[in-house]
Amino acid sequence: MVLSSSNSFLNGEIAKTETPNVKKRHRRVKSSGVKNSEYDDNDGYEFYIVSLDNKQWHFDASNSDERDEWVAAIEQQILNSLQLNESSKAKTNPVEAATIQSIKNRVPGNSHCVDCDAANPDWASLNLGVLMCIECSGIHRNLGSHISRVRSMDLDEWPPGNVAVMLAIGNTLANSVWECQTQNKTKPGPASSREEKERWIRAKYENKEFLPPLNNTMPLGQQLIDSVCGSNVKAIIHVLARTNVQEVNTTVGPRDLRTPLHLACAMGNLAIAQLLIWHNADVKCVDQDGRTCLAYAKAAASIAAAKYQSTNSLNADVSATTSKSLVELLLTYGCPEVSSVSISGTIPRRRGSQNVEM
Ligand SMILES: [Zn+2]
Repeated sequence: MVLSSSNSFLNGEIAKTETPNVKKRHRRVKSSGVKNSEYDDNDGYEFYIVSLDNKQWHFDASNSDERDEWVAAIEQQILNSLQLNESSKAKTNPVEAATIQSIKNRVPGNSHCVDCDAANPDWASLNLGVLMCIECSGIHRNLGSHISRVRSMDLDEWPPGNVAVMLAIGNTLANSVWECQTQNKTKPGPASSREEKERWIRAKYENKEFLPPLNNTMPLGQQLIDSVCGSNVKAIIHVLARTNVQEVNTTVGPRDLRTPLHLACAMGNLAIAQLLIWHNADVKCVDQDGRTCLAYAKAAASIAAAKYQSTNSLNADVSATTSKSLVELLLTYGCPEVSSVSISGTIPRRRGSQNVEM
């Protein structure tokens, strides 16, 4: 059985659907995801499983009893697999467990689902930096990973970039942007129907109906550069919700070809760099002198490491670790290696600054 092959059934839902042409006693395996939809229990002998990594297994049973037996057995198998995973992870990775607890307990708003206010949400949208309940996570997954990258807080792997984004955003900050103006529409509660929740979630993230008014005084790319330079996460969330690929890769100026990602790397800001990469920042871009983001990140890491050596402070330690993780992140995404480059790490203070001193 395919179920034990991955963690991808964390939010596994099994859907039974009505089918006019039941292929009795025949099971097919296809590629696609787990879905929970309404079904007609009288006629449907068909069901399918959709995983988090978007694989789908499609089954036909010969009658409803056989189908229900299969569904129950598969659900139990998923549950067993998850419980096994959870307990083994809790034992082997206490640091990660503590990090997850910090995201849940210390980030403002994270005690309740970002979309329906259900208590103790266990699911995350990585790129949105929010926590949500299991039902809302299923709806998010249906939006597609270009809108929301859903992960389990307790079961998935949590590399430093993902953690940094979750710590930098959180439900309160995210909703100050995504629910800035809800136009008197009523937000669903924990007891609302799935349909109500889905309507809200699609209006919020897919149609972007509740975002703050657009600032028309400055091109979006330049707004992004300003926000990154100021480490203004709220502004970055807002701008990224509206930018296209070209705007994400805007340069500081015609002669200063640093992009927002270069600037985030110069500051050693792992969370912002990760957000930009998820929003299609070009990790292979180079500045006017051919320097890659990796060169900037390495320079920032050296500065942070030196500072830690001289001060031995906790903040300097965190900063050094974060910068190192940023270097690793860029390598993971294929940012080219560079050598023999000296960068002092100056960043522009204002939009359009032509200060290219590095
Ligand atoms: Zn919810």
